Amino acid sequence: MSDLYREIPQVAKLLELEPIRAYLDRFYLPEIKQVINYTLSEIRNRIKNNEIKEIKHTDIINLIIENLEKKRIYSLTKVINGTGTIIHTNLGRSLLSETAVMHVVEICTNYNNLEYDLVKGERGSRYEHVEGMIAELVGSESCLVVNNNAAAVLLCVTAFAKGKDVVVSRGELVEIGGSFRVPEIIETSGAILKEVGTTNRTHLTDYDKATNENTAIYLKVHPSNYQIIGFTNSVSNEEIVKLANKKRKELGQHIITMEDLGSGCLIDLSSCGYKESLVSDSVKSGIDLVTFSGDKLLGGPQAGIIVGRKILIDKLKKHPLLRAFRVDKMNIAALEGTLRDYYEEDKAKKSIPTLKMIHYSENELYQRATTLSDRIKGIENISSKVIKVNSTIGGGSLPQSQLPSYGVTISIRNYPAYEIEALLRNQEVPIIGRIVNDMFILDVRTLLDSDIDIIVATLERVGR
Ligand SMILES: *Cc1c(COP(=O)(O)O)cnc(C)c1O
Repeated sequence: MSDLYREIPQVAKLLELEPIRAYLDRFYLPEIKQVINYTLSEIRNRIKNNEIKEIKHTDIINLIIENLEKKRIYSLTKVINGTGTIIHTNLGRSLLSETAVMHVVEICTNYNNLEYDLVKGERGSRYEHVEGMIAELVGSESCLVVNNNAAAVLLCVTAFAKGKDVVVSRGELVEIGGSFRVPEIIETSGAILKEVGTTNRTHLTDYDKATNENTAIYLKVHPSNYQIIGFTNSVSNEEIVKLANKKRKELGQHIITMEDLGSGCLIDLSSCGYKESLVSDSVKSGIDLVTFSGDKLLGGPQAGIIVGRKILIDKLKKHPLLRAFRVDKMNIAALEGTLRDYYEEDKAKKSIPTLKMIHYSENELYQRATTLSDRIKGIENISSKVIKVNSTIGGGSLPQSQLPSYGVTISIRNYPAYEIEALLRNQEVPIIGRIVNDMFILDVRTLLDSDIDIIVATLERVGR
């Protein structure tokens, strides 16, 4: 057996071979070495497991070439989203608009006034570039942008409630996407979570009774990805604000009211059959601070946006944690580019991909599905039909809030759906779909126009 190990060719020798050297066109030497190394360790494993009886150099070389062919230049790579989930956290959430991307390129390939006041000729603040715009769009006194919404919530709770109580309804102690859990964020901040009410019903008196001289924040959390139905009650922002005002008068104590909105919707989406409260409604309710994400319904880059009272946001701007949560120039540029289009709602709906995908009409989707399906049907060994499906908005919106859409089924020979799913996921441009009733489907709502030719070309290759 040890003889077999000894017969494995040396890396340096393999690197001299012309068929392997040919890949230097595409990869750097260390990248090729990595592929050789993991191919050889795979072979050593097979020897260990008695799966190999003899070593043929040509087999090894072919295996290395096979792995080089499969290797992507970048680990972070483009994929085709046929899942129908528009804000898919695993697939990068919102796509940026062209305006946003152009602005990012301009800013990142040039020096810029990130922290430079061009009027005064002295140091400026990176936070000022988009603050005014956001405050105007949502009607708030002030605004602050940080890395993401988790950071926004953590910053607010740390700054205003460290060592003090944060009152949250038991119906709102949510977990979003595994890594954001309201109780853990509060614990991390050094604040004390004071749960009130029950899972399905919380009343204003629950907040009232939980209040004492140690209470710092009443926190409302958008339940986002789940819904409590049936015998339920939750307390509105307005009631919470009223209670905080009452406590101020009675006890002379300033309790901050705050809402983690999650997705953060800036325009009315009810025409698409989707009811989501607006950030401006939360601001109007009188609540002190509202936080939301930049890359969910807003359709911009990863960011956490805090809007609300100037006096509080000014305090946040001086907090040491802000330095750790500070937003990068790329994200500021992308956010500024995205937000500009919001000044004209129709422009936003056409140019911001997330909003555009939400607004496709059923007829448009049917046309796209038919066109794609017809092209797929023409490919050897592959069949396809158009079916009705439901898309989801995703990004912490309700699973129930589905949008009727059309899907294209893909059958390859007599492969089971899960094999088709894996096959298409492992292509040069991975195609990610969904399995519905044992059929592999692509929901056309989340496909880009440029995806269509890639899908057809990929299927032509795998159908052979
Ligand atoms: C998504 C979400 C978050 C986390 O936002 P990120 O921008 O991903 O950090 C926090 N709270 C709620 C309610 C959410 O839906």
